[in-house]
Amino acid sequence: MKVIELRRKYVEFFEERGHKVMASASLVPDNDVTVLFTTAGMHPLIPYLLGERHPFGKRLVNIQKCVRTGDIDEVGDGSHHTYFEMLGNWSLGDYFKKESITMSLEFLTEVLNIPMKNLSVTVFEGDAEVARDTETYHLWKQVGLTDSQIYYYGRKENWWGPVGLTGPCGPDTEIFYDNGNKKCCVTCGPSCSCGKYVEIWNNVFMEYNKNQDGSYSPLKQKNVDTGMGLERILRVVNGKENDYETELFYPIIEKVEELTGVKYGKENERIFRIVSDHMRAAVFILGDEKEVVPTNSEQGYILRRIIRRTIRYIKLLGNNENILVEIADKIIDMYDNAYPELGDHRTFILEKLDKEYQSFSKSLVEGLKKAEKYFKGVSETKILNGELAFRLFDTFGFPIEFTEELAQEKGYSVDVIGFELKFKEHQEKSRIGASGRFNKNVAN
Ligand SMILES: [Zn+2]
Repeated sequence: MKVIELRRKYVEFFEERGHKVMASASLVPDNDVTVLFTTAGMHPLIPYLLGERHPFGKRLVNIQKCVRTGDIDEVGDGSHHTYFEMLGNWSLGDYFKKESITMSLEFLTEVLNIPMKNLSVTVFEGDAEVARDTETYHLWKQVGLTDSQIYYYGRKENWWGPVGLTGPCGPDTEIFYDNGNKKCCVTCGPSCSCGKYVEIWNNVFMEYNKNQDGSYSPLKQKNVDTGMGLERILRVVNGKENDYETELFYPIIEKVEELTGVKYGKENERIFRIVSDHMRAAVFILGDEKEVVPTNSEQGYILRRIIRRTIRYIKLLGNNENILVEIADKIIDMYDNAYPELGDHRTFILEKLDKEYQSFSKSLVEGLKKAEKYFKGVSETKILNGELAFRLFDTFGFPIEFTEELAQEKGYSVDVIGFELKFKEHQEKSRIGASGRFNKNVAN
């Protein structure tokens, strides 16, 4: 199944069932200072999940652009990404568990043709504070799942929220694709990481309010919030081993092969995957309506970090040319029918990438040499102090996470707290030095 078809089928399925289609919100949240990027489809909906009336009504569906960098170190395996698309449908005080479960199952088995025997689900097992979610268990049984396909798990796996200390929260039920392989051990189940189970969909049932005193009371407006990663479901539907073999990534990998002359294979797959994942994220962040550019703060810093990390990984493939622009050009071609903002921003995206490459590629080579020297100097303690880490940042533009990664590869660590102290000291100095002259330019 083509991705264009999968996106359309998902939206149409829920539209036919009374859901209004929302466009993807910007990658940069509007009124949220707690996070830098939109991390899930529910993110822009928080005020409505809390009870505010949504202009589109009580049933919503969309495909949301998301960025998460919390597990950037895991990118390179088959399924972690910094940028991804999330398919979501919501009930704001309208339908609840029964309809949600029925619709999800119908979409998976009748639209995507996944056999029922290949599905497993997890349900909240309950604890001292909140009862076991037997309702969800019985609903799964009613629609045809057997006991051996339903697993009870605790809060870590099957509970969502609240966002802050108090507010709406509730159990969820997660749907997994079971590839039919033998169980790896007696405890093998959906939470096992052996690869037999792939999580595809999460349906959150917001039915409680967590109160100031820590107790839970039933909510008047019960909501459903679901999320399904597009990359993951596309892989499952097409029987691919990992997300990078789908059309969402493979053409990028081929472009990198063409530009570097290096073949993608077992020994370098992590590098190819990081490059294609990060380049896709960079293109979407630069192509967003909010026009984020590489800087040393907030969203711009994350973007800079992603691009600089990519430049280094491309170098690890033995390539010293600026191929960012050509890779990005390819990505825009792949995605601009679904996300026309990328095509509209093509020149902007390519120019910013080129500029970032020009400003970093030279200092990268010198910085790596310097870092090597610094590491030698601390070979006894194997801890790079904050002062040296700050010099790599200040002189060569190495984000601290970047230096940490270099250190880790050698079995060293970095004094990050020491780095932050140096960083603050430096900020103070430039603020004093610049006062009354060009204040505005100090932030970056
Ligand atoms: Zn297992």
